[in-house]
Amino acid sequence: MAEISFWGGVGVIGSSKVLIEQQGWRVLLDLGLDFTPVPHLFRGRVAPRPGQALQDQIRTGSVPAIPHLYRPEAIAGLDLAGSSDAKTALFLTHAHPDHAGLAGWVDPGVPIYASALTGQILAAQESAGMGLPGGVPAVHALPLGDPLPFGPFMVTAHAVDHDIPGAVGFLVETEDGVVAYSGDIRLHGRHPEWSLQFAEAARGARALVIEGTTLSFGFQRAEPTEKMVDGAFAEILERTPGLVLMAALPANLERIAAFVDLARGRGRTILWPPAQAQFLKTMGLTDIKTLDLAAQKADIHARPGHYVVQLTVPDIPVLLDLPVGPGSVFVHANGEPFGDYDPDWTILHDWLTYTHTPFWSIGTSGHASPADVHLLVETVAPDIVFPIHSAAPDRLVAPPGTARWLPERGGRRFTLSRP
Ligand SMILES: [Zn+2]
Repeated sequence: MAEISFWGGVGVIGSSKVLIEQQGWRVLLDLGLDFTPVPHLFRGRVAPRPGQALQDQIRTGSVPAIPHLYRPEAIAGLDLAGSSDAKTALFLTHAHPDHAGLAGWVDPGVPIYASALTGQILAAQESAGMGLPGGVPAVHALPLGDPLPFGPFMVTAHAVDHDIPGAVGFLVETEDGVVAYSGDIRLHGRHPEWSLQFAEAARGARALVIEGTTLSFGFQRAEPTEKMVDGAFAEILERTPGLVLMAALPANLERIAAFVDLARGRGRTILWPPAQAQFLKTMGLTDIKTLDLAAQKADIHARPGHYVVQLTVPDIPVLLDLPVGPGSVFVHANGEPFGDYDPDWTILHDWLTYTHTPFWSIGTSGHASPADVHLLVETVAPDIVFPIHSAAPDRLVAPPGTARWLPERGGRRFTLSRP
């Protein structure tokens, strides 16, 4: 009898962790960090203690106490079994921290599977000093479309479109039917056909676990496509006489490659903070130039219209050394800070106001619009749908023939056998 339980992503965006159990074997889908906007005990200047970071997070409930998953030394002193039981495997849908962020704590005896690209991104982030807490895990590359037997399960990865390359959804064959898990998915990106092919492959599944990020935000317009984001960036480059400042996520590699091309075509060079530049170069992007203000400051002031500077939050004071103000612009393209729920958001805006620098937002979501979430559910037509990774999972309306089940956090098991 197969059972499914939810250890994160319940009523919140991010933190996804879906456990499927059968005959004592366990498939864990994602192991994400908790990004809940609900107050955490650890926030601001209060951080988990060095040397006992995982214990502190487990003891305060921000990391789940799943037995036989973590390295024993990372959970020393807790009443929780560490080390692999040789019957548990972790499958990661993509390299975003709210899906993979706890993988560094996993016991080496627990195999971790992901797409080859996800493994490369995690390794490149680690080598650039932007790695996971607990270190970089060894990731086995899972060929797309090839079923992998694990105990009584068969697990197949299918590409889906998201705002990071290498994203997949999983089909997990159990003795009670297929459990499909979307990971993070969208239909307005560069590869909507991947997401639709995943849904087609999942058609008729016993259960579908789907992300509902955008349901959190109520009624809204359709998301812009990535092509529209490219067009908006090109227009800003052409219309802005001075320096363009930018906040884009390096891991959105396809967008970054497009932005680098668009900038070069308009006589501009994008300058990246050193760690991000190293990450992008390791991932094989070309024409990546590192920001080195000591060497470049004079030329940026002499020819501000020839540059774009990617700004990170800790680097905001460099605005004092850059030719910003009217004639310059800050372009927000889904980078950090992510939005008005982030305390850094008002700090950034205070600095832009102080320096008289205009702000322009051109991004698009990595997550399917509410209409597209419903289209995906209708395409899969599962017996049961579990909406997760959403602040408002109850806004998902199941189509006729599909039962909706709102997951509960904390490991309560749902039995998948038919009534
Ligand atoms: Zn994601």
